[in-house]
Amino acid sequence: MVHATKEKESSTVQVALRIKPLTTDDLANLPSRFQKNVLSTTQFAPNQVMVHGEKKQSWTFDKVFGPEASQKDIYDQIVKNMVDKFLEGFNVTILAYGQTSSGKTYTMGTSNEYSQLPESKGIIPRSMATLFSYVNSTQYKSRKFVIKVSFVEIYNEDLIDLLAEGDYESRPSVTIREDSKGNVIWSGLQEIKVNSIEEVMGHLMRGSMSRQVSATEMNSQSSRSHAIFSVMLSQQKFVTDFGKKNNEEGDWVTVTSKFHFVDLAGSERLKRTSAIGDRVKEGISINSGLLALGNVISVLGDPAKAKNAMHIPYRDSKLTRLLQDSLGGNAKTLMIACVSPAEYNINETISTLKYANRARNIKNSAIVNKEEPGWQDIEHLQNLVLKLRADIKALKDSDGLNSTSFQPDAIYLQQNYFGYETTDSISEENKD
Ligand code: ADP
Ligand code: MG
Repeated sequence: MVHATKEKESSTVQVALRIKPLTTDDLANLPSRFQKNVLSTTQFAPNQVMVHGEKKQSWTFDKVFGPEASQKDIYDQIVKNMVDKFLEGFNVTILAYGQTSSGKTYTMGTSNEYSQLPESKGIIPRSMATLFSYVNSTQYKSRKFVIKVSFVEIYNEDLIDLLAEGDYESRPSVTIREDSKGNVIWSGLQEIKVNSIEEVMGHLMRGSMSRQVSATEMNSQSSRSHAIFSVMLSQQKFVTDFGKKNNEEGDWVTVTSKFHFVDLAGSERLKRTSAIGDRVKEGISINSGLLALGNVISVLGDPAKAKNAMHIPYRDSKLTRLLQDSLGGNAKTLMIACVSPAEYNINETISTLKYANRARNIKNSAIVNKEEPGWQDIEHLQNLVLKLRADIKALKDSDGLNSTSFQPDAIYLQQNYFGYETTDSISEENKD
């Protein structure tokens, strides 16, 4: 358990839907009789989408963006507030879900191409611009910031470090473990320190190029792999002691937070058009990470199950292991479901709507990750204990406070201080 303060808030996972416009490529590639638009939105019900298939369906999300929505609309309306949370010290995750070609990479901005027009830049470059304007602002001049990035790909349950040097195949593999406090640690992964937005974008480019090179070598791997670009932020700020006259007294407090940008594998069942199409083959071809993610979401999304489930199946895939503390745990989560409006894709679109809809009930319990300097240092803690004992003794001597009346207060304070809460069943589940 992270040593955290009581700055704690509960929220559900946010789920937004984005309908992409049909591009000239789509118009050239989709059979013309299936190009009909089968999705519609209305300004009278801004968070709903209607599907005009054999039967009409309507689905509600936290936010629905039609084909006319710009990259800036997406950023301003649903992402900006996540970046603010990240800067406050929360762990934040944004997942892009949907079938291949539905706009996941475009929305996320995972392949930051030089040729890109500024208005078509995606979520990652926009978030990084906000991050660096914060870090460089005069308001936070007294803070010390350290920013690191990593970029990992999950393919067939292998973790591949996209920022590692050397041959794609000969790179050391990344393993996942947990520390004694239950934090998920990705070991063997490069975390590269960055000082500017250009450096971040350089690493993003390099990583996504290494992903694309392998895609041609390994049979269009990129649509079947997940890409997770992560930014780790550590902020040291000086907190003045409350109530002291001289405001130079205080302590350095370190707040750390991580931001995962997840460009998920294509959600389509491979071989969907294949004549062989038997159930077993189809089952195997579903991406195991998406399957496990769906199962985790389904357990968390059902309040009765989430309360009683002894085991939320995070361990069923690398993806859910990596994101364990981002789903139902100590994090803010946004899923952006991407769909195509064309009739040709209607079955995949409906399955995306179903999948995304299951995510809407997850209760996340986010806390600010704050750690005092010296918290890991036994000698410092021992000295602190001695000092506190002396303080208590002095208090007792002066106020006539006896030990039996003091203890319950001490326990109460400690509970608050560590941020434990017993009311939130999901955060309890996630402690182990
Ligand atoms: P995915 O990552 O889901 O496979 P992409 O993001 O690569 O899909 O999108 C497929 C194609 O559609 C790309 O050429 C992309 O530029 C284009 N595209 C996706 N969404 C939009 C959008 N909202 N506006 C314009 N073009 C888009
Ligand atoms: Mg993509």
